[in-house]
Amino acid sequence: MPSDPLRFVRPDFVDLEEYEPVKPLEVLAREIGVPVGQLVKLDANENLYGPRPEIRDAVAAADFHIYPDPSSSDLRAAIGRYLNVDAAQIVAGAGADDLIDILIRLTGPERIVIAPPTFGMYSFLGKIGGAKILSVPRTPGPEFEIDLDGIRAAVDAGARMIFLASPNNPTGNVLTDFQVEALADAEAIVVVDEAYAEFAETSVVPLAAKHSNLVVLRTFSKWAALAGLRIGYGIAHPELAARMMAIKQPYNVNVAADVAARKALELRAEILEDVRCLVAERERLIAETRKLGWLEPVPSQANFVLFRVVGRDAKTVVTDLRNRGVLVRYYARAELSDYIRISAGRPEDIDRLMQALRELD
Ligand SMILES: *Cc1c(COP(=O)(O)O)cnc(C)c1O
Repeated sequence: MPSDPLRFVRPDFVDLEEYEPVKPLEVLAREIGVPVGQLVKLDANENLYGPRPEIRDAVAAADFHIYPDPSSSDLRAAIGRYLNVDAAQIVAGAGADDLIDILIRLTGPERIVIAPPTFGMYSFLGKIGGAKILSVPRTPGPEFEIDLDGIRAAVDAGARMIFLASPNNPTGNVLTDFQVEALADAEAIVVVDEAYAEFAETSVVPLAAKHSNLVVLRTFSKWAALAGLRIGYGIAHPELAARMMAIKQPYNVNVAADVAARKALELRAEILEDVRCLVAERERLIAETRKLGWLEPVPSQANFVLFRVVGRDAKTVVTDLRNRGVLVRYYARAELSDYIRISAGRPEDIDRLMQALRELD
């Protein structure tokens, strides 16, 4: 009788759900019967303009037989200049996801508050960190406002860490400074995930100087089209940032990511032109889909829009679009069962999407 190979695994890990395994593009393309290059990928909020050629050149020229700088000094200095904060407040990581993990490991919170519907990584990494996840739901759509009193009650009940995204994924709405400051007055670390800040009109980075328990997360994945290289960062009180630096994996930022991110900051004026185009396409997406009469957009400050599907089955719409080579996001969760999320793309991507949507009429 062979012994149980999982007997040394932490009991709560034995049946932990994997983080939404997604099919590789090649597999999807084969299933649908189109070449990968003809898929319109509007399901993961990536920047379909892709990285600037200068970034590819810089990565190609990087010396990656040498280990990266564990303190990412040049990159953190460049980010500091970009945001007008001290480099000592910046911690870089393998995507914003890495910073979520670092914060959870640093503080070891017994309870973490999230405000669903929201980004899945907070509860996923929270559970791996051994925390209990307290969900304080947002109000129903189209508002999807956070429940400030409910979150404060969760802190009173012992939660020491709050994760909120602004703009929120998948709803697209932002937090107000008032909401963030009200939460920062509570006895908990408040993490505001600004993965989509470059597409939005507001940011709470300036508030980080006032509140030692406020941490802001950012990434190069969305605006700078570097999702596949894994590079993000956090802005925190210098003492908290120093402790984050102390416990992170020393080489969490690889050489290619470091070089690419610095080049992206150098080229930010040009890249932000692409961002402006994506924002314009987001607004065109809203205007064009309104004419169909069966998609109700939720106002968004990010590079995607959440739509309520009215009078037809949302999941069927997603399948029908996929069969036409257009990928959008569906959520298998009760409160989003009538919704689909569509990323903004280049004009030609949104044209292809609109053509497919009209074919469904
Ligand atoms: C996409 C996304 C991230 C992931 O950022 P990475 O830097 O790629 O890890 C983080 N937070 C939110 C809200 C996102 O939507």
